[in-house]
Amino acid sequence: MLRARAGLFAALVVLAVPCIANAQREEQPSPGSWQGKVFRWQYNPSNHPSWLGDEAARQLLVDASREWETCGIKMEYAGETDRPSGKMDGVNVIGWQPSLPRNLRGITMGRSRDGQLIERDITFASARAEFERYPTLLRKVVVHEFGHAIGLTHSATCNDVMTLAADCARANPLTLPQTPTPHDLERCRALYTNNRP
Ligand SMILES: [Zn+2]
Repeated sequence: MLRARAGLFAALVVLAVPCIANAQREEQPSPGSWQGKVFRWQYNPSNHPSWLGDEAARQLLVDASREWETCGIKMEYAGETDRPSGKMDGVNVIGWQPSLPRNLRGITMGRSRDGQLIERDITFASARAEFERYPTLLRKVVVHEFGHAIGLTHSATCNDVMTLAADCARANPLTLPQTPTPHDLERCRALYTNNRP
């Protein structure tokens, strides 16, 4: 339903679907990058995972987002908001919902024009038991969605942070990448090298 809204780009994350081994995959072109190489976001703590304290949940997002600073982009946490994530209101809001449509783990939604990103909101599914069981899975999903938030599409290479899990052999949740891989960073730098200052 959300994806059908005209003018919106919905980047969908990782369904736990068994692999299509060695399938030919194509990387979609990026919708754009952030002018000035800054992604400034606010946090709505409502519905954060009950097993993860309020402060720990916020710190997870701040720390995981900053993994992309290796790419040369500033990930600027701009404090709390009570705006909902997923609403196109001109503010980049990161938040939680107990569950998401189609059993998604996380979803990034936004707007872009002429190769420039205008807005990116991320919503994570906070009530998934797998996240409590495997915090490394949650952290990987968080880094992945922030990758979408700065304009990256899915990687066609398995084991990247930006891999669409549905395309790859089911990974051990304990050994998922927690930081962008060299290939993730190569794709990110390609996106921001052409970025106007
Ligand atoms: Zn994704």
